[in-house]
Amino acid sequence: MSEEKSLNFIEEIVEQDLASGKYKNIITRFPPEPNGYLHMGHATSICLNFGLTKKYGGYTNLRFDDTNPVTEETEYVESIKEDVKWLGFEWKHELYASDYFEQLYAFAVKLIKKGLAYVDDSTSEEIAEQKGTPTQPGRRNQYAERSIDTNLELFVQMREGKYADGSKVLRAKIDMASSNMLMRDPILYRIKHAHHHRTGDNWCIYPMYDFAHGQSDSIENITHSICTLEFIPHRELYNWLIKELDIYPSHQYEFARRNLTYTVMSKRKLLQLVNEGFVDGWDDPRMPTISAMRRRGFTPASIREFCDKIGVAKRENLVDVGLLEFCVREDLNKIALRRMVVLDPLKIVITNYDKEGEVVLSENNPEDANSGSREILFGKELFIEREDFMENPPKKFFRLAPGQMVRLKSAYIIKCDEVVKDEQDNVIELKCTYIPESKSGSDTSGIHVKGTLHWVNATTAIPVQINLYDRLFTVEDVDGAEGEFKDYINKNSLQVIANAYAEPDLRNANMQDRFQFLRKGYFCLDKNSAGEKLIFNRTVTLKDTWAKANK
Ligand code: ATP
Ligand code: MG
Repeated sequence: MSEEKSLNFIEEIVEQDLASGKYKNIITRFPPEPNGYLHMGHATSICLNFGLTKKYGGYTNLRFDDTNPVTEETEYVESIKEDVKWLGFEWKHELYASDYFEQLYAFAVKLIKKGLAYVDDSTSEEIAEQKGTPTQPGRRNQYAERSIDTNLELFVQMREGKYADGSKVLRAKIDMASSNMLMRDPILYRIKHAHHHRTGDNWCIYPMYDFAHGQSDSIENITHSICTLEFIPHRELYNWLIKELDIYPSHQYEFARRNLTYTVMSKRKLLQLVNEGFVDGWDDPRMPTISAMRRRGFTPASIREFCDKIGVAKRENLVDVGLLEFCVREDLNKIALRRMVVLDPLKIVITNYDKEGEVVLSENNPEDANSGSREILFGKELFIEREDFMENPPKKFFRLAPGQMVRLKSAYIIKCDEVVKDEQDNVIELKCTYIPESKSGSDTSGIHVKGTLHWVNATTAIPVQINLYDRLFTVEDVDGAEGEFKDYINKNSLQVIANAYAEPDLRNANMQDRFQFLRKGYFCLDKNSAGEKLIFNRTVTLKDTWAKANK
């Protein structure tokens, strides 16, 4: 296979445009509506828009599409900025569609003066009814006959707040018989007496999406305006407005929305999960939001790699979340510090061990020669994982069992001599012996064992909380499944282990650190850790156990 990646269709367009001299540099924008947190779908759009100008020169604006006063909040603006930066991208200008309200108003006046817009007093039901159907043309009402002067006057009064919400709209006068329903005199402005997060109470009329988005593109001289497929029918109106307003000819291109298996990606649905308490916030590590993935320990590099791998498509499809996890594992394997943590402790006592203060050396990351090693205090009393012992093991159980030997990672080979039980017949302790000549690095014992177990020293280990996450939904295609998406929530998506034991070095863990807890997966510190109370989130397991269990 060739190393060179083929161009995606948008890159092809850009290369043609640059080759033909149509543009010297390209300008793109990422235009989120600040009505929620960014999710993985947005990440693909961010990587595409910023990736293009990184590759071809030019720049990308971050534009908040904040034309809907009711759903938007400053909290979302801040989170969006943080997420884009965290993903590793820098925008040229931070802009707000609401900064263009005066300009957009002037554009509307221009259309009225050209006889291409009118004030309509119909109710929304009447407007919908008069619009016709895809097979039947719509019809104009008497308001469409208003004179330019009357329209100008009414529009000024709309702005001045003389009218109630919903009592009037401004419509473009295009073609009530167009096969494109969006061209049948679309609404440009509506009245909404609502407080806006940036313009306050300055405005009581707000432009509709179609009369803000394209115009904002033109104002910013955006060369390639990239949006998702559902905007294909809007392109005709986008171009009509550019032509009639005689403004910078931005071009709209559409690519397929990206969706992931086992999750939902619409902000509306994610908001429901938050508001109805199915998760504990937008950054709950089970959510597909960028802030949740950050909290869970995903790296920006792995998300960028994932977006690159799935590329840009013209048709919608579901992307296997397993691919995202694969990218995360690949990156973490290179950078994560190896540590030992026992999630379900079983005590072992090494009866023939009497040394004091002996340390063993354990490598921080075998994939990174510069990462060095750390010293771990060995001891007489240790914890191992309960599942690493079986009293009556099947044939190929290479872990600990009565009379069987294993190696303790970076330390000695031990043998299980005796099983100690309580009155209920539960195993509470194992008595073992160690082979003094078998120390890792200087093993002269000649004994070969197949199993190596992780362990912690029972006297120095620190208690930590571990959060294990599973998929938030039980079906692959949540949006495609019958009924309500909430019917498919996985009730066991979070498992909290309150009392795991970690090697003491983890007391120094920082939020940015990435760990591999040997044999247990990749982990990072959770933001709710405080002082002595350490909480670790499992980012991802070491192997794709899900695919195996479910196929
Ligand atoms: P949602 O339905 O989740 O609210 P949206 O499209 O309304 O998504 P916006 O804030 O309007 O969200 O989107 C900002 C940009 O991100 C737009 O250009 C949009 O096309 C893109 N985008 C949103 N969701 C996806 C997705 N799933 N895949 C690819 N791009 C997306
Ligand atoms: Mg939206």
